[in-house]
Amino acid sequence: MAARREKNPSAERKGKNTQNGTQTSQVQWGRAWEVDWFSLASILFLLMFAPLIVYYFIMSCDQYQCSLIDPLFDLLTGNKHLSDIWNKTPTLTYRAAGIYTLWVTFQVCLYVFIPDFCHKFLPGYVGGVQEGAVTPAGAVNKYEINGLQAWIITHVLWFANAYYFHWFSPTIIFDNWIPLLWCANILGYAVSTFAMIKGYFFPTNAKDCKFTGNFFYDYMMGIEFNPRIGKWFDFKLFFNGRPGIVAWTLINLSYAAKQQELYGQVTNSMILVNVLQGIYVLDFFWNEAWYLKTIDICHDHFGWYLGWGDCVWLPYLYTLQGLYLVYHPVQLCTANAVGILMLGLIGYYIFRMTNHQKDLFRRTNGNCKIWGKKTEYIECSYMSVDGTKYYSKLLTSGFWGWARHFNYTGDLMGSLAYCLACGFQHLLPYFYIVYMTILLTHRCIRDEHRCFSKYGKDWKCYTAAVPYRLVPGVF
Ligand code: NDP
Repeated sequence: MAARREKNPSAERKGKNTQNGTQTSQVQWGRAWEVDWFSLASILFLLMFAPLIVYYFIMSCDQYQCSLIDPLFDLLTGNKHLSDIWNKTPTLTYRAAGIYTLWVTFQVCLYVFIPDFCHKFLPGYVGGVQEGAVTPAGAVNKYEINGLQAWIITHVLWFANAYYFHWFSPTIIFDNWIPLLWCANILGYAVSTFAMIKGYFFPTNAKDCKFTGNFFYDYMMGIEFNPRIGKWFDFKLFFNGRPGIVAWTLINLSYAAKQQELYGQVTNSMILVNVLQGIYVLDFFWNEAWYLKTIDICHDHFGWYLGWGDCVWLPYLYTLQGLYLVYHPVQLCTANAVGILMLGLIGYYIFRMTNHQKDLFRRTNGNCKIWGKKTEYIECSYMSVDGTKYYSKLLTSGFWGWARHFNYTGDLMGSLAYCLACGFQHLLPYFYIVYMTILLTHRCIRDEHRCFSKYGKDWKCYTAAVPYRLVPGVF
């Protein structure tokens, strides 16, 4: 990161300081220290209902052909009781537990024991040991970036199995989907609980821990900023990327294999979903070093939100389109397929280019060109807990001059394309675009709250220069 630093002798470690003309606590720009009632209510809602939402979606495919309304109708009219639905739900099996344990252990081994070799032969790929951003306590962590190689090894083994060795069926994930859900939940809860205990008793960096005094908030949003075991096993990097995101493409492949098994063909909509989401996943691993500078790593503490979310929410709900297409194989006409492909690719291009422009700008400290012109930016400064003053810049050229979060806009266009590939027969595949719109709009707001706390009046100058968040002229 291109932040310059200087010691501010007048800054105190604790208490209020005037920063950038705004009265802020020095430690305010990280996660919140205090919980307002709305945050608490949202957190309690999510803790209670998020696991049920996941179950409801997966169960409705298993028992109701992906209809979200029929189970409710059955329950409300008394056609069925909760116990009828529950009794028909597959339980945890030894087979699923074995598969899941092997899967997570394999990913841990790839993460911990195989240093990156991809950066040695792939031009332009940044892997190996990389630095993260400055934490609120002023620490800079090192990370072993080897996600791309983990993804490649895993997928080579998958294809070797599916087409050559036949150790297990390529439909194995689909065939064990609900038993695997229980395993994912066990890991999600176990890791979040462990992270909470670790935060209290043996944190990796005590200065970067935050306690609100509210058990539920701390459990959900995490106490430790960057919990680690040993020097390299970083919880956030591991759980964010693997096992969930490596699994994403395998889950989709398993759905495609199931379509082939059931109907003797793979539909063009299934291919579109596999290709578009495959590009998104590969992009994530190709840019894993850049990912160290995103909000998940730079801002969020590691709690249930990330721990359970990465183990359960992401693999189960981000792959709903493929699951739906197993039950409803949609064959799109060529014009629709091409239109959806274009929407997905243009969305991806905007998403990638916007992220790339910021990354290039920050890496070169503004000494670069965007769209052939010298970059324009706003100078800004902020302080870490120990009173060190840092200088940074906010880009106002390229897509960053159009809107403050145009990367999210591209992401939303891509997300809509996945959903449209499923046609209009059911609501379930559209969950993803609804969820992403809420997630990314909420992200805009919380990121801007954080940036205002961090940069003060400099952030105000930036929002005056770039007034819109997602869509120029609209929002
Ligand atoms: P950003 O990559 O936009 O990062 C926001 C941070 O960038 C800010 O906190 C600030 O950090 C810095 N920043 C903001 N404006 C500027 C500017 N004008 N110039 C330079 N730096 C600036 O957001 P995210 O980390 O949320 O997202 C990264 C990508 O991941 C996005 O494309 C998003 O769509 C995607 N994403 C996908 C999700 C999914 O579930 N599929 C979930 C979340 C994100 P600083 O403190 O360094 O100034």
